[in-house]
Amino acid sequence: MIPISKPLIGREEKEAVLSVLDSGMITEGSVTKGFEKEFAKFVGAKYAIATDSGTSALHIALISHGIGKDDEIITTPFTFISSVNSIVYTGAKPVFADIEEDTFNINPNLIEEKITDKTKAIMPVHLYGNPCDIDKINKIAKKYNLVVVEDACQAHGASINNKEVGSFNTTCFSFHPTKNMTTGKGGMITTNEDIAKIANKLKLCGESKSCFYDILGYNYRMTDIHAAIGLEQLKKLPEFNKRRIENAIYFNENIKSSGIILPKINEGHVFHQYTIKITKECKKTRDEVVGLLRNNEISAQVYYPLPIHKQELYKEDYKNQSYPISEKVSNEVLSLPVHPVLTEEDLNKIVNVLNSIK
Ligand SMILES: *Cc1c(COP(=O)(O)O)cnc(C)c1O
Repeated sequence: MIPISKPLIGREEKEAVLSVLDSGMITEGSVTKGFEKEFAKFVGAKYAIATDSGTSALHIALISHGIGKDDEIITTPFTFISSVNSIVYTGAKPVFADIEEDTFNINPNLIEEKITDKTKAIMPVHLYGNPCDIDKINKIAKKYNLVVVEDACQAHGASINNKEVGSFNTTCFSFHPTKNMTTGKGGMITTNEDIAKIANKLKLCGESKSCFYDILGYNYRMTDIHAAIGLEQLKKLPEFNKRRIENAIYFNENIKSSGIILPKINEGHVFHQYTIKITKECKKTRDEVVGLLRNNEISAQVYYPLPIHKQELYKEDYKNQSYPISEKVSNEVLSLPVHPVLTEEDLNKIVNVLNSIK
């Protein structure tokens, strides 16, 4: 089976982990500090705060910006559940703006009409590794005095006009094993000095000095074991991303099946997912295409089959609302394997199976 994602762990990661284990200093310590420093440098941010997941990074990034009860945060309904859950954890209310059909990202032109007296922030998500139009979003934020917290959990190494995602606003990353780089489990916030100070305290149980506490914090530490993997993965990230982009270009040049819409190779896109759309004009339904690929030992996945406002968890809260583009694409999208370990044979096989649909 060609898997939909595959973490690439080499000798370097294994040796780094063993060296942490041998050191006896396993919890968050100097290796995590080193990882934070390198990650900040990589994205061009002043500070980076390591956490134990992308979800916890989003949670405390929002709190660090003073977001809480009764605030409204504008985000996309077409994303992984954690983008929205992290807002709910703070007591704030997620308000949705629909997406653009070709980029799958929040449509900046639909944000302003969602702004109320309660709006505090915009949370754009760089879905599938495709960077949002951050200039437009930042302009709106500036005009209405809003905070921008970016969800870049799928966009390590993505860039906008040659500037790294993570350098524009407070930005959160995930190191879950399916992402473009991994630590096994982990996350990172990149931000400025003021927010870094609060976020760092929040992730260390809210400790003001050893065993003294003045705010409600969380235990969202990374460990040096995870950070050791992250440091090695970060060195390999540019090469990983390069291969993802090459794979995406190969697909775009070779998939010729009618009724299948291919993604655009946008500047700065790092193809966390390579996501096609199976339209009504295709000779097979999406389910049939998934079945055909599986029969040929190719794993393909639907990210995401149901927009957030339609999920059981949230459907009561948004019951009279409709986000037609999100609803439409959730019925069309299909992500193909695009990870760096695909061989030429794998790539050919995926292309040939799709091109056999006539
Ligand atoms: C993976 C992901 C997260 C959460 O990251 P975890 O490390 O799994 O907690 C949040 N948002 C998006 C868009 C993601 O893809």
